[in-house]
Amino acid sequence: MPTPPPTSPTSSPSSSSTPPSSTPASTLPAASDAPVVPRYARSEAAFAQASQVLPGGVNSPVRAYQSVGRNPIFIARGHGSRVTDIDDHEYIDYVGSYGPLILGHAAETVVAAVHKAMARGASFGMPTEAETALARMVVDAVASIDVVRFVNSGTEAVMSTIRLARAATGKPRIIKCVGCYHGHTDALLVQAGSGATTLGVPSSPGVPDSITQHTALVPFNDLAAVEAVFAQHDDVAAMVIEPIAGNMGTIPPAEGYLQGLRELCDKHGALLVFDEVMTGFRVAYGCAQALYGVTPDLTCLGKIVGGGMPCAAYGGREDLMRQVAPDGPMYQAGTLSGNPVAMAAGLATLEALADSDQAVYARLEKQAARLETGLTEAAEASGVPLAVQRVGSMICPFFTDKPVRNYEDAISCDTQAFAAFFRKMLDLGIVLPPSQFETWFVSREHDDVAIDQTVSAAREALAELA
Ligand SMILES: *Cc1c(COP(=O)(O)O)cnc(C)c1O
Repeated sequence: MPTPPPTSPTSSPSSSSTPPSSTPASTLPAASDAPVVPRYARSEAAFAQASQVLPGGVNSPVRAYQSVGRNPIFIARGHGSRVTDIDDHEYIDYVGSYGPLILGHAAETVVAAVHKAMARGASFGMPTEAETALARMVVDAVASIDVVRFVNSGTEAVMSTIRLARAATGKPRIIKCVGCYHGHTDALLVQAGSGATTLGVPSSPGVPDSITQHTALVPFNDLAAVEAVFAQHDDVAAMVIEPIAGNMGTIPPAEGYLQGLRELCDKHGALLVFDEVMTGFRVAYGCAQALYGVTPDLTCLGKIVGGGMPCAAYGGREDLMRQVAPDGPMYQAGTLSGNPVAMAAGLATLEALADSDQAVYARLEKQAARLETGLTEAAEASGVPLAVQRVGSMICPFFTDKPVRNYEDAISCDTQAFAAFFRKMLDLGIVLPPSQFETWFVSREHDDVAIDQTVSAAREALAELA
């Protein structure tokens, strides 16, 4: 989501993508440069309409499909592993709402729980027992979390966690990895290009240098770079990291990397923050920290914890979390935080995952491994270089012949090949996240039929690319 592709496809402006309207066309923003495809006529029209009243026609940039050189499809509904667009094409879906939908679309138990909660009232601004119930499930599931606070988005969770880390340590500096995404909070909306201890340069206008000057950037999977920051600065509050990088494709931590970060943070009196907004409840019920056996001081959760509703959380060690208002002085609040409908969706989702010896995770592993093998074999058959990387149900085929270990490796991939692959897969009934730098999500509902259909489509798409 975060990392714009190094090159974006260019095509000549097309007047046919101009929204139909009585307003003179010249005053309207072009919906996009992409040519209109008749097969997708309703989506094209919907996008033109949307572009009149929403920036880029969307409410989150990657949905605009710019890096894959076409206009987005508009979705009518989803069920299980599939979504249907407004032109009535059905797709096997690997977007999964960018992570929350581990149980698939419109999971029966989640829908029922949401209906029930909504019928009792959408929001009260007074406590409900559902908040305690979901908090209890989170505390029981995640070893490092003693106390948890619910918020409304992953961005808010990370923003609050940074404030807490700074409040608790009395220090300002945050270390972050190049290519890791932690939401659009000012302090972490920093990209890099250069060396380990480079001071952060904002990657968006509107973010003052005075905020990002406290952000130090390091390459993912590079312990020496983190050590160098600590050697140079004694004002580090926290190292914030996605334990499995999922926002520049899928990049697992190198052996010993997370353990090394734990040791460095301890040695230098800094906190270790795991941003598990994507990985939390995705790669294991105990989150990535359970998978790798490393205990962070604070953890950010989102996506799955809200079961598809706007909900996220941050939590950790008791002594730290008791500094949050009203127990302590670190102020953080929210009108809709712990919203009963969101709590109901989260509870129904976690209940399905907690169930019976991690059966859902065993199934996810099996189905995602089937997809990994299928994609790898399809690439070999076609001769297209493809590095398929996976942790559990997070998977990404990189268009490169080398393993991808960090952002620099990721941006060296053939994004034009990915874009062509994406468009062909869409025509074949498979919807992927529209960027080389996104993780695909396998859900509980991706059965053998769905995986095998995906692999045979990939075979055809890759053969065309070769
Ligand atoms: C999605 C994501 C976020 C941001 O969450 P939003 O709910 O989109 O604000 C933060 N961190 C990571 C690792 C994410 O994947």
